[in-house]
Amino acid sequence: MTNPLPDALATWAEAARVRSLNAHGVRPAARYVLCWLQQALRARDNPVIDAAICLANDLGLPVLVYHGLREDYPYASDRLHRFILGASRDLSLECRQRGVACIQYVDRAEKREKGLVYRLAAESAAVLVEDQPTFVARWQSERFAARTDRAVLAVNAACLVPPAILGDDIGSTTAFRRRHEPLRADWLTASDLMAELAPYDGPLPFVPDRLDTSTDADIDRLVAAAAIDHSLPPSPMFPLGRGGALEKLERLMDTVLPTYAAVRNDATNPVGASTLSPYLHFGVVGPREIMATVEAAAAPAGAKDKFADELLTWREWFHYQASALVEPERYDRISGWARETLEAHAADPRPELETLDALLHGETRDESWNACQRQFLVDGWMHNNLRMYWGKRIIAMTPDPQTAWATACYLNDRLSLDGRDPSTYGNIAASFGGGSPGREGPAVYGKVPTRSDGSTRHRPDGPAWLEAAATRPRPEVAVPADLPVDLYLEGRAPA
Ligand SMILES: Cc1cc2nc3c(=O)[nH]c(=O)nc-3n(C[C@H](O)[C@H](O)[C@H](O)COP(=O)(O)OP(=O)(O)OC[C@H]3O[C@@H](n4cnc5c(N)ncnc54)[C@H](O)[C@@H]3O)c2cc1C
Repeated sequence: MTNPLPDALATWAEAARVRSLNAHGVRPAARYVLCWLQQALRARDNPVIDAAICLANDLGLPVLVYHGLREDYPYASDRLHRFILGASRDLSLECRQRGVACIQYVDRAEKREKGLVYRLAAESAAVLVEDQPTFVARWQSERFAARTDRAVLAVNAACLVPPAILGDDIGSTTAFRRRHEPLRADWLTASDLMAELAPYDGPLPFVPDRLDTSTDADIDRLVAAAAIDHSLPPSPMFPLGRGGALEKLERLMDTVLPTYAAVRNDATNPVGASTLSPYLHFGVVGPREIMATVEAAAAPAGAKDKFADELLTWREWFHYQASALVEPERYDRISGWARETLEAHAADPRPELETLDALLHGETRDESWNACQRQFLVDGWMHNNLRMYWGKRIIAMTPDPQTAWATACYLNDRLSLDGRDPSTYGNIAASFGGGSPGREGPAVYGKVPTRSDGSTRHRPDGPAWLEAAATRPRPEVAVPADLPVDLYLEGRAPA
């Protein structure tokens, strides 16, 4: 059972983004309203912070923003940790500029305390969390809401149009686009509410970290001191924090957008894609700010429309789908016809089987697949046009469809900065059989349409590009004894 929204939020202009996660009421006799962020790591244009300010102003309380980083989330590595901490550093810096207190806690050898969000919640009127439909942020928020005695309110900060106002009956991207497009204009302006009270400066139940004055070297020290996977290095392609996101936005406006419609499918073209997805995944930038950049760019209308369709139709469609699923990461989300045909072919001869080591390191017998995988391994990102080929080929390289699903999700989630996202599982499900069945095809795939590497290989410089991409210097990463199949076959990770 859940509660109705408190009046201040029920009448807020962005109320459609908010829902109660438990049945507890707001307790006005408190020190602050707690805003617990996990993935929406930006201080401005952040509806979770805005909702917290809206409620806090009504109660005459300050807001306290909290971001904690544990060592035991799945796939914690130097790559993910460094990117997250860079975003968190700028979150606290910009919270301070916005007049809101922000504290952090980073687990590491000399400092490991548990239950911090519960301790902070004990002094709060209510806790605002983000409404994320996949992976750790969802699992933690739901578990916390079930265990705490405080009101927990979840706010959608990831989408331009809150999925809740779209209804629950949309079954295709065409229908989604039709319903979503007319609503967009209403959601293009950020609330950016102002806190009426001074930043919270009272007692805290633990000694926090304050990252706002951290240098990149300080962040590197925190990463080095954490018990995480140190074999996967940070990506040089994605500068940290808001500075990194703003650099990508400027590049989008000046270089990418003008030719986007024409070159976005060319993986060999270095300006074909915005490379914004890691910043979007970790909320360093939101769709509103990106759309404002698109509007301001001197680019053809067709290019702007194409980009908006990727960002607003495709991305938000996968968020909408994931919001409707209890466990969007699971194999059984693949369409029924695709599971049926793939399972009917599970016993087919599989001459292209590869080891997990060869797959992880991009050292299979398929040069084109290796070129794709090296982007994940080295850059922590992959070009859109390569991803469908990459996903479909895994079906032939693994022993059965369930292992194929778990392998694709594992590689994407562990290596890519934008992994663990609604777009991860939605797109992998689409490459394993979105749309309608094709004609019975080659062994292993059944009615699942295959895809060739032609869109890259058949370009004039395609073969040379593929060869260079497939042999890029790469890190030697730790190879697990067993693939973590439970997460993708049985359901969410343990508490
Ligand atoms: C098998 C497979 C796995 C994928 N895994 C992920 C993933 O883990 N995380 C992720 O964010 N995207 C994923 N995608 C979607 C897409 O490939 C990436 O969003 C895109 O390549 C990111 O690069 P970009 O920011 O330069 O994209 P751009 O071409 O610059 O597009 C701008 C934005 O539009 C959105 N977008 C573009 N294409 C898609 C799409 N097909 N689906 C949903 N949103 C889209 C993204 O938010 C992207 O950042 C996957 C696609 C496939 C086929």
